[in-house]
Amino acid sequence: LGRIEEVDDKIGAFLRLDKEKALERARELDSRLQNGEAEADDVLFGLPIGLKDNIVTKGLKTTCASKFLENFIPVHDATVVEKLRDAGSVTIGKLNMDEFAMGSSNENSAYKIVRNPWNLDHVPGGSSGGSAASVAAGEVPYSLGSDTGGSIREPASYCGVVGMKPTYGRVSRFGLVAFASSLDQIGPLTRSVEDNAYVLEKIAGFDTRDSTSVNKPVPKYTEALAGDIKGMKVAVPKEYLGDGVEDGVRERVKEAIDTLKSLGAECKEVSLPHSKFALSAYYVIASSEASSNLSRFDGIRYGMRETEDNLLDTYKRSRSEGFGDEVKRRIMLGTFALSSGYYDAYYKKAQRVRTLIKQDFEDLFLDFDIVVGPTAPTTAFKLGEKVDDPMTMYANDILTIPMNLAGVPAISLPCGLSNGLPVGLQIIGRHFDEATIYRAAYAYE
Ligand code: GLN
Repeated sequence: LGRIEEVDDKIGAFLRLDKEKALERARELDSRLQNGEAEADDVLFGLPIGLKDNIVTKGLKTTCASKFLENFIPVHDATVVEKLRDAGSVTIGKLNMDEFAMGSSNENSAYKIVRNPWNLDHVPGGSSGGSAASVAAGEVPYSLGSDTGGSIREPASYCGVVGMKPTYGRVSRFGLVAFASSLDQIGPLTRSVEDNAYVLEKIAGFDTRDSTSVNKPVPKYTEALAGDIKGMKVAVPKEYLGDGVEDGVRERVKEAIDTLKSLGAECKEVSLPHSKFALSAYYVIASSEASSNLSRFDGIRYGMRETEDNLLDTYKRSRSEGFGDEVKRRIMLGTFALSSGYYDAYYKKAQRVRTLIKQDFEDLFLDFDIVVGPTAPTTAFKLGEKVDDPMTMYANDILTIPMNLAGVPAISLPCGLSNGLPVGLQIIGRHFDEATIYRAAYAYE
């Protein structure tokens, strides 16, 4: 708490702290230990955690960094919150983000921006900007974020921390405020690969309350941290190191690939021919799903209500005043793409492209264990640099989106600096094979 008080005025990672309850919880854990009712051998026992503010917490405001939910107090905890509580963690507060997780720079928060701890004039990345910056600034040992098109990995890359987007269906999304339901996943942000494996072990697993959750046993990811990757087959898609990737980023990633080779991995250049269509497909699919998911914010059921003398005007005014520009842009785009007459041309077509992208990965994984490349084409850009240009902002996600479309797991971990800012190495694995990703990441780290 002291560290947060010391630095968070500058960083802006926390939207709110739950100080009293956190201290009360810490005391409760202490006395459980003293009374022999608990054992501190669980690595997460007693550790504070920060949660992205789209993960619902019982009795603690959850705003999604939107004015719409300014006063929304959930009546239940998300499954991940329950699981971490069972492991003895202490929820310390809720972390800043782009409104409803839409954005790549955290500049779309309705409350305040987040600054990159490495250089306060730069963005921390988004949409889990608070989750990444809080870990990078030493405010919490780990945090949770959500990733729909890169929102865990891109900020992890910009802030020099480790961020994992698990396989779609691996972690329950019960209690995650939905953005694009066929893409959303919750995952951990940590300072090391080992920490990351520990947290995923705790939060992964089947949950009957999330119909997309998959009933598969959760491996002990920490057992994969053997350090040995001899003979591991590594694919390097040439599309991921092509034009548009900053020189410094390309160099660091190539060096990382050399390191993997020196550890005994067999690296080979390959092609993912449909990756160039991923961005277009994503912004149709994600916006369509968002337009549908966000229809629940109607001024009646949750959050803000601006009462007018008829229902339609109440909807309109509440939504006009409650949502920020980026959220409105997505809703309009998605509503348009789903309208009758356009559905086939946009939404259905995007779904077909999505299948091709998934097949690209499936084909690669017949011959390779992991795929590697950069997490983002550049290092953290300057605050304000892209806010007025949504297309440039969207283009930033080009290297993280294909994995959400394919549902495969991917991690971002630091691989050095370019111009004084962290570069992220992305490692992608087969569906439900987070263990191999951790194995490679740990050996590299
Ligand atoms: N930047 C992407 C978007 O704005 C991804 C967001 C996310 O993963 N939540 O949609």
